[in-house]
Amino acid sequence: MLRRFFSYYKPYKRLFVLDFSCAVIAALLELAFPLAVNRVVDDLLPSGNWIWIVWACLGLLGIYLISAGLNYVVTYWGHKLGINIETDMRKKLFDHVQKLSFRFFDNTKTGHLVSRMTNDLMDIGEIAHHGPEDLFIAIMTLVGAFAIMLGINWHLAVLTFIIIPVMIYLSLYFSRKMSKAFKRMFADIADFNARVENNVSGIRVVQAFSNENHEIAQFAVNNGRFRQTKLIAYRIMAWNSSISFILMRLISLFVLMCGTWFVIQNRMTYGEFIAFVMLSNVFLGPIKQINSVIETYPKGIAGFRRYLDLLETAPDVADAPNAVPVKQLRGDIRFNNVSFGYENKEKVLRNIDLSIRAGETVALVGPSGAGKTTVCSMLPRFYDSDEGSITIDGIDIRKMTLESLRSQIGIVQQDVFLFDGTIRENIAYGKLGATEEEIWDAARRAQLESIILSQPEGLDTLIGERGVKLSGGQKQRLSIARMFLKNPPILILDEATSALDTETEAAIQQALGELSQGRTTLVIAHRLATIKNADRIIVVAGQGISEQGAHEELIAAGGIYSRLHQAQFGA
Ligand code: ADP
Ligand code: MG
Repeated sequence: MLRRFFSYYKPYKRLFVLDFSCAVIAALLELAFPLAVNRVVDDLLPSGNWIWIVWACLGLLGIYLISAGLNYVVTYWGHKLGINIETDMRKKLFDHVQKLSFRFFDNTKTGHLVSRMTNDLMDIGEIAHHGPEDLFIAIMTLVGAFAIMLGINWHLAVLTFIIIPVMIYLSLYFSRKMSKAFKRMFADIADFNARVENNVSGIRVVQAFSNENHEIAQFAVNNGRFRQTKLIAYRIMAWNSSISFILMRLISLFVLMCGTWFVIQNRMTYGEFIAFVMLSNVFLGPIKQINSVIETYPKGIAGFRRYLDLLETAPDVADAPNAVPVKQLRGDIRFNNVSFGYENKEKVLRNIDLSIRAGETVALVGPSGAGKTTVCSMLPRFYDSDEGSITIDGIDIRKMTLESLRSQIGIVQQDVFLFDGTIRENIAYGKLGATEEEIWDAARRAQLESIILSQPEGLDTLIGERGVKLSGGQKQRLSIARMFLKNPPILILDEATSALDTETEAAIQQALGELSQGRTTLVIAHRLATIKNADRIIVVAGQGISEQGAHEELIAAGGIYSRLHQAQFGA
């Protein structure tokens, strides 16, 4: 996994080298500083030459200035490295999510996905920058400081360093506890996002049912749980920081005490003593740094693991290796012995055989939940059949590229999904880059023109999230306009007018009639009046096709269709 992590550094090798070498030089200068002070105190001070000391201090000022410059580079360019890696990962994840199949989204909470794309990746970016650099520098400084201290006075150095393993042990202990706490915190944040997302997108239902208090109570549960996990994490953090504070002060006191004793014994000069005190402070820094790397590392790694999990989720439906793009299809559709179930347990469709001629309009009718929508979702391969095959113009749809297949099929559904934006953007979604004339032409054919003209902003009218500022009929017209632009040879109308009142339905039927001209059309409708002029009626019931034929034939046969008809129109 670490190898995969480091592979993200590849495009930024130069940035990494720059950042890393600046950090190394800065660390070396920090180690050099106590040595320089040592020389000033031991060599220049006894000589009493004031000018020399001023020069030495100017030299030290120079070192400081260089360190400040290096520090800027490390802070800015180092973070730039982290942000670049974070951005790359986010792009890769988003690209991947675009390709995941319906089945994945059926089982995934939107809020969880959002969480992964924001919080998780920010933490990864943070360790991408701090992790390797801080760890290396810290170890280098620690070893360097130790070596210099050994050189100055090895007795005192060894005594001081006895305390290090204790600190490392405690760090690891707390890090394990932190890691667990953070994992829980992440899960809470994801749940949180999911709940907020769900609540806001369903707020109209919430208010219509006056269930605000119920929602508030549910939210309070999540909120309280989050508070609790966060408190636990901070308590561990507080213990950790208090204990390291005490340990560090203990080292300082220890050095002060033993150092003065060595000086009194004449086994150490004043300069060495001062350098030693300074160095013992230098090596406290890296321990803190290692500590913080150890703290953030589990957070980042947990995020990276979830990131990889998502990235490695293969789409259920994808292009076959030898898939070829298809050009304009005629729309001759054939289901050959197709069986399908959403979850592995029960089949929704069993051994379906169906053929639809190019240009034909067939109506799918049948009880709710019988599988009409399912039949239609198999055509654009939203789901792949478990058994059997589907061909269009004699070509197996699994041998076509998804993009070319889906560009040949248009779907108008009952609940129209519109994007937050303008009418223009939403119509043009059917054909990105459509010209002004094309958009108006589509709007006219979908009987949307007068509606657009009546808006002060015309095509640039904002329609609100999911098109909340439009009526049901207007939304449906917009989705039909979108389809005129897409102009696919195969059209699926899935209860396209079921949600509308009879008057609006009649108006939209006209637009739909024009839309289905010259296309192979599958119409799903429960109002049988709307499908009377279909060429053929197919009844979907009991996991399959139970009857099919013209209206009169089916009435005469006295099966499910005639019963449905009787229920709607009387005997
Ligand atoms: P129809 O369109 O005829 O009303 P559907 O094709 O939508 O029926 O649904 C057929 C069956 O499949 C129903 O029992 C429904 O509960 C189930 N179903 C539909 N969509 C899904 C899905 N995404 N995941 C799991 N089961 C589903
Ligand atoms: Mg349906």
